[in-house]
Amino acid sequence: MEYWDIIDKLKNCLTVKRLVHSQGVSEIAVVLAGRYGVDRDKARLAGILHDCAREIPTQNLVSEALNRLLDIDDIERQEPVLLHAPLGAKLAEEIYGVRDKEILDAIKKHTVGGLTMSRLAKIIYLADFIEPNRDFSGVDKLRQIAETDLDKAVLAAYDHSLEYIIKQRGLIHPATVAGRNQILTNLAEAD
Ligand code: FE
Ligand code: FE
Repeated sequence: MEYWDIIDKLKNCLTVKRLVHSQGVSEIAVVLAGRYGVDRDKARLAGILHDCAREIPTQNLVSEALNRLLDIDDIERQEPVLLHAPLGAKLAEEIYGVRDKEILDAIKKHTVGGLTMSRLAKIIYLADFIEPNRDFSGVDKLRQIAETDLDKAVLAAYDHSLEYIIKQRGLIHPATVAGRNQILTNLAEAD
């Protein structure tokens, strides 16, 4: 499906605010893709679709995920909103005709991150934080790091996410910890 057809379709399932956010993620993902040697078209597509399941009512997310044979872990069971990422990957394939595994994996991992993130997945994870409509304290610092070092920027995004979850007394998904540990280890080895 073409980009503009996807946007037309997304208008039926996302609020204007969420669609504007998704367009922001898509735009900044294209910029990051150019900077870090990733296919721009894949970044554009993954960005626009990353939240395609985000407006499914929370109480329906578990059943929608189970209907598609997704594994639901302990944390997702307690925080079903997290399921919008793996479910979004399924819908991207089912409804929007995306076949590219790397795009689907980037959508799947955009909320909690994780191990073995492709550069595209890192870009989508990061773009979700720094797209132009985002405004939180520290966002400019993140944008600045994103100009020069993808891994350091993803690390800073993990840190921001963890700090936020801890302040909210929320549950930390183990994939976030694993992803952060891996980046820290890789950065230490590169030093
Ligand atoms: Fe999301
Ligand atoms: Fe998002």
